[in-house]
Amino acid sequence: MAESDKQAGITKTRQALLRSLPGVDRVLEIAKTDSDFTGIPRSVLIAAARLVIETRRQMILNEKLKIPEETVTDSDFLAQIKASATAAMKPNLTRVINATGIVVHTNLGRSLLADAALDHIRTVAGRYSNLEFNLAEGRRGSRYTVVEDLICELTGAESAMVVNNNAAAVLLSLDTIARNKEVIVSRGELVEIGGSFRIPDVMAKSGAILKEVGTTNRTHLNDYQRAISDQTGLLLKVHSSNFALVGFTASVSLKEMVELGARHGLPVMEDLGSGTLIDFSKYGLMKEPLVSESVAAGVDIITFSGDKLLGGPQAGIIVGTKLIVDKIKLNPLTRALRIDKLTLAGLESTLRLYRDEAKAIQSIPTLRMLSCSLAEIHKKARRLKGMILRLKDTRIDAEVADLPSKAGGGALPLLDLPSKCVAVRINGISVDALETHMREHHPPVIGRIVDDKFIMDMRTVLNDELPEITAALQTCLKEAQ
Ligand SMILES: *Cc1c(COP(=O)(O)O)cnc(C)c1O
Repeated sequence: MAESDKQAGITKTRQALLRSLPGVDRVLEIAKTDSDFTGIPRSVLIAAARLVIETRRQMILNEKLKIPEETVTDSDFLAQIKASATAAMKPNLTRVINATGIVVHTNLGRSLLADAALDHIRTVAGRYSNLEFNLAEGRRGSRYTVVEDLICELTGAESAMVVNNNAAAVLLSLDTIARNKEVIVSRGELVEIGGSFRIPDVMAKSGAILKEVGTTNRTHLNDYQRAISDQTGLLLKVHSSNFALVGFTASVSLKEMVELGARHGLPVMEDLGSGTLIDFSKYGLMKEPLVSESVAAGVDIITFSGDKLLGGPQAGIIVGTKLIVDKIKLNPLTRALRIDKLTLAGLESTLRLYRDEAKAIQSIPTLRMLSCSLAEIHKKARRLKGMILRLKDTRIDAEVADLPSKAGGGALPLLDLPSKCVAVRINGISVDALETHMREHHPPVIGRIVDDKFIMDMRTVLNDELPEITAALQTCLKEAQ
């Protein structure tokens, strides 16, 4: 056949194929008689039909579709529309299995809540509450009173309030204390936290003027002292969170900063980032700054996150002197950054657990995962390995591997926690394909690839997720057959 004839033939087939594509109306017609489509709203069905028809049209135009018989009656075509419509009916925000070993994983939702917090959220969400109603006096109340006393009790602070997150706490505090004034901060503490949240950018938004002192690796008391002028409104210390300065370094202690502030009549603020209410060094972990230590050192205002090492819901907690916290509460920005009632319910219950440290460690998942013994993690790894081997498929190989996990959440930056992982390899399936399969499974399993193996860290995997992981591997084997 001459090349031009062949070309003409292809064009003709293509046109026939394009003509054979059904319209959305035809799909809707068929859907009426197919019980698989019952309960799927018309709008969803139309969108799914359009998507599948358009995909198919593109395939024909790009000559990827060769079978001329394929029409709307093709069950494969309808199945695609069904799959697309069914997927659209599922929530976009979904649970995943965190097999990364990063306990406070910002991309995977940071902290899991304790049961007590979940119960409290459910109760408060489904009923009216005394959110801003003083039951004793029968009149309007403040939402902050729900947690204020509790936070003061746990930290030793004089006064407290809560906002949407720690970034909001920093913004609000700076705006209240240092609007149009200079804030002195060490160059070594101007951190970017991820999700491109940079301390200097937040400071700029607050209207405070940043005055950097020292060098990246060394800042001395003198540097702060020399920078103080009648323009100065605040001395700020920022916890370096997700990185650590090692080697030839110097920084000024909280105590020295508080003394310097007192000498010049300047308040001192500390952004603790994660902050914690219990001493992690007691559990074999690296020491993280305690909120109570900063309070005791005399820092005027301290901010920290609710969902990092605290293990509660997303929130920003502000503690400090009554004088400053009262001013913060009156700032109109507070209304824009305010904490929502579900968060407040979760935060209150989480904080209550801290009254008994042993109970907190046991019932707050973030703390439980961080302090979990290696023996316990090893047990979980061996269980999963056993379940995988019981699939009795010669292609799959699973072994327990010693790889460290990370705390995450901008905390304990230098700390690699010894952990136990399950490393999986499947003959005939590339590790990349395996990783993709696990990620696209329901529920998705998020792990990592090391040395051509799919690695699942058991520190962050819950016991009832082991059968789900095994099922995900089983479908992977089945699909590859
Ligand atoms: C994480 C972090 C923040 C931001 O806290 P969010 O609760 O995520 O808003 C601010 N400052 C420091 C030092 C942090 O580590």
